[in-house]
Amino acid sequence: MHKIAIDFHDGRLCICRSVSVRGMMLMSGTCYGEGRDGMIEKKSIDLLHSVKRTEQSGQTREQIEHHIRELLRLIGEDPMREGLRDTPKRVRKMYEEIFSGYSVDPREVLGVTFDEQHEELVLVKDIVFYSQCEHHMAPFFGRVHIAYVPSGRIAGLSKFARLVEAFSRKLQVQERLTKEIADTIVDVLHPHGVYVIVEAEHMCMCARGVRKPGSRTVTTAARGTYVSDAYARSEIMSLVQGA
Ligand SMILES: [Zn+2]
Repeated sequence: MHKIAIDFHDGRLCICRSVSVRGMMLMSGTCYGEGRDGMIEKKSIDLLHSVKRTEQSGQTREQIEHHIRELLRLIGEDPMREGLRDTPKRVRKMYEEIFSGYSVDPREVLGVTFDEQHEELVLVKDIVFYSQCEHHMAPFFGRVHIAYVPSGRIAGLSKFARLVEAFSRKLQVQERLTKEIADTIVDVLHPHGVYVIVEAEHMCMCARGVRKPGSRTVTTAARGTYVSDAYARSEIMSLVQGA
């Protein structure tokens, strides 16, 4: 079903076509606003830019709780004993939180940006995150450091923490998490360069298999000027490792 909506986003008149896909509202269209030179500027929204949050339906909640109860039975537990009676409900509520990234559009999180002529390094370090490894559905967690050199557009600093949440609160692998954060910043802010570093500990490596507690995995993603500038990358590394 297609609907035309006229709305204001970020002080711009936005004429959108909204499409309902699998219960989510997606929008694409054209924005009109005042450009830097005071002239009316037309900007098309190339990607579906708004995914509205959909609440879990009562039926979905019941199904999740039912399957957790079945799982308890299958591993040899008695789901009706006192300590476990409310566990399916608690797990379901926890899932709503740790998998909330599925109902967030990461581009929208960075959506409100500002014109600013700062074209030097911005480093947001030590953003703590908590995610779930998609191979074992076991937690992996650690810190994300985001460095970028703006080219006239910046985003509020807290937005980077929300961007990390949008990508980490779903089933993930650390490599993709790193890449998706870097690519979204490139898409939305068009900076000169981006360098993202993720360090994490994986429960699937600590609690099972090779059992190596304390080992950390570091992944990086470089975009723009950082791809060819090893000196700039090592500058970020030393800023991250310093106090
Ligand atoms: Zn794993």
